[in-house]
Amino acid sequence: MKKLINDVSTVVDDMIDGLVRSVDGLSRIAGERVIVRADLDAIRSSGQVALVSGGGSGHEPAHAGYVGAGMLTAAVCGDVFTSPSTDAVLAAIRAVGGPDGVLLIVKSYTGDRLNFGLAAEIARAEGIPVEMVIVADDVSLATGSDTAGRRGIAGTVLVHKVAGAAAAAGKPLDEVAELARRVIGSVGSMGVGLSPCTVPAAGRPGFSLADHEVEFGLGIHGEPGVRRDRLQPASALVSTVIGRIFEDRGIKAGDRVALLVNNLGATPSMEMSIVAGEAVRAAEALGVRVSRMWTGAFLTALDMAGFSLSALVVDDELLGLLDARTSASAWPVSAAPLSLSAPVVVPVPNTESARRGGEGDGMLVAAIEAAAKALIADEPRLTALDQAVGDGDLGLNLARGSQAILAELDDYRHLDRSAALRRLSATVRKSVGGTSGVLYAVGLMSAAAAVERGKGGEVAWGEALKAAADAVARLGDARVGDRTMLDALVPAVEALEVEGNDARGALAAAIQAAAAGATATASITSRRGRSSYLGDRAVGHPDPGAEAVVVWLSAIGRAIAPKSA
Ligand code: ADP
Ligand code: MG
Repeated sequence: MKKLINDVSTVVDDMIDGLVRSVDGLSRIAGERVIVRADLDAIRSSGQVALVSGGGSGHEPAHAGYVGAGMLTAAVCGDVFTSPSTDAVLAAIRAVGGPDGVLLIVKSYTGDRLNFGLAAEIARAEGIPVEMVIVADDVSLATGSDTAGRRGIAGTVLVHKVAGAAAAAGKPLDEVAELARRVIGSVGSMGVGLSPCTVPAAGRPGFSLADHEVEFGLGIHGEPGVRRDRLQPASALVSTVIGRIFEDRGIKAGDRVALLVNNLGATPSMEMSIVAGEAVRAAEALGVRVSRMWTGAFLTALDMAGFSLSALVVDDELLGLLDARTSASAWPVSAAPLSLSAPVVVPVPNTESARRGGEGDGMLVAAIEAAAKALIADEPRLTALDQAVGDGDLGLNLARGSQAILAELDDYRHLDRSAALRRLSATVRKSVGGTSGVLYAVGLMSAAAAVERGKGGEVAWGEALKAAADAVARLGDARVGDRTMLDALVPAVEALEVEGNDARGALAAAIQAAAAGATATASITSRRGRSSYLGDRAVGHPDPGAEAVVVWLSAIGRAIAPKSA
C-alpha cells in the first residue's frame, strides 16, 4: 500500500484538519469529527432549515465538500467506510439546530440509519425539530419499485443540492424534506468498477479484478458488485448502465434528466470525459434529453477506478434548485444548461489543397518513396532510441507520416517540385506528432521556397537542404552540438557545398557526414528537446532525430544513385 498519509490511525482526523485549514468557510466542532459552516451563528438565526449529512469517510469530497451556503450545514465523518457514532451525529444536530429545524440526509446503510435515527430521536426529545430522509438510489441491487435494501450512492449529492437550495430559499422543514423525498423517489444510480480500493487500515485491496474484468453495480465501500463482466468499450459499459437506470426509474423518451457522472476515485479525467460523452449519447439514443450534467469526483470509494452515473428526472422547479448558487467547495461552479443544438464540431475551410495537373519530377517521387519506406522499416529502431532518451514516440511519429505520404504518392507525380515539397510539408504537419513533425514541416516548407527562388535554372538541392536546416535551427532555436537532428543535417549540407564533387559523389559525402554527425551525438549532453531533461543520462545513446536523418538520407542515396551506395 502506498498512500499519502501520516498514520493509518489518524487519516480521518488529518483529512478534517486539512479541509478546515485549506477550504474557506469551514470549521470543525471541537472534539468531534464534524465539519460545519464557519458562519454557524448567522445560520441559526437566519430562519433557515439546517442540513446535516455524513457517513463513513473515504467518499470524499462527500460529504464535507458539500458544506457551504446553499448545500449542507454540517457533515459528520465516520471512520473509513464506517458509520459515525450516534453522539457525533447528535453533536452536529445540536450545533446547527435552531427553531427552524434540521433535515438529516442519510445514505441507506444499516449503521448510518441506526446512528442518525437514534440521534434524531434524542434531538427531537430535546425540542429540536428533526426530519430524516434515506437515500437508496443504487438501482443495481433490487428491481421494481421496492427500494428497501438498496444502498445510497452518488445520487445523494443531488439530494444535498436540491434540499440545500430549498433551505437557502427559506422553505420550511416539511417542504425541504418533501423536496428531498421527491428527488430520492426519482433518482437512480449505478456504478462500474475497474479496480478495487484499498482501505488504509486494511492495507490491501478489498477484492481482486483481473485485467480484462469489470464489476457492475459495485458498492462504494469496495464491496463486490452484482455482476462481473468482460471489459468493454466505454460506449458499451455506459449504455448498459444508462439502460438499467432508465428502466428501473421509468425514465422514458421525452423526459428531461440531470446526469451526474461520478469518478469513483482513481479514474483519469480523460476517461471521465469519454464516459460523459457516451452518457449523453446513450441518453439521447433513448430519446431522453440531458438538461444538465456534471462530471467529476462527487462521491468516491477511495482509490477505486471506475465511474457511476446518476440520473434524475427534472422539471423547471428542480432545475431552478439545481442551478441555484452554492459556496460548497465540491459542487462545480459551472452548471450551465447543456445546449445540445450547438455544433459539436466546427469545420475549418482548407485553403491549402495542392494544385495538380503539372508534370512531376520522377526522381523526386522516387526519393520521397524511398525515404518514407526506409523510415517505416526502421520504426522499431528509432522507437527504441527515443525510448532511451525521449518519450519513445519518434519512430511511430515518422512512420505515421511516412504512411500518409505513401498513401498520396500518386499525387506527387503531378506536382512540380516546389508544389510537391509544400504538399509534403502539409502532410507531415498533419500526420507527424511531436517536435519532429513541426520541424520537418518547416524544413520542407523552406526547401520549397528555395526551389521556387531558383526556378528557371538548375534545381540546387544543396541549397534547398540548407534552407531546410536553417529553418529548423531558427524555429527550434538549436545549433550543431545541441544533440538534435541538426547534428546530422548541418554536416550533410556542408558536404554538399564542397566544390569539385559530382552530384553522385556529393550525395555520398553528405550521407557519410550525416552518419558521422549522428554517431557523435552519443557523446553530447543535450541542450534541446526532451533529452535535455536527462542531462548526462543521455550520453552513450545517439540522438534519435539525428539517426532518422541518416535513415532517410541514405535511402534517398540508394534510390537515386544506386551505384554509389
Ligand atoms: P518529442 O517527442 O520530444 O516531441 P520527437 O520524438 O518527435 O519529439 O523528436 C525528437 C527529436 O527531435 C530529437 O531526437 C531531436 O533530434 C529533435 N529535436 C528536438 N528538439 C529540437 C530542436 N529544438 N531543434 C532541432 N531538433 C530538435
Ligand atoms: Mg519523442
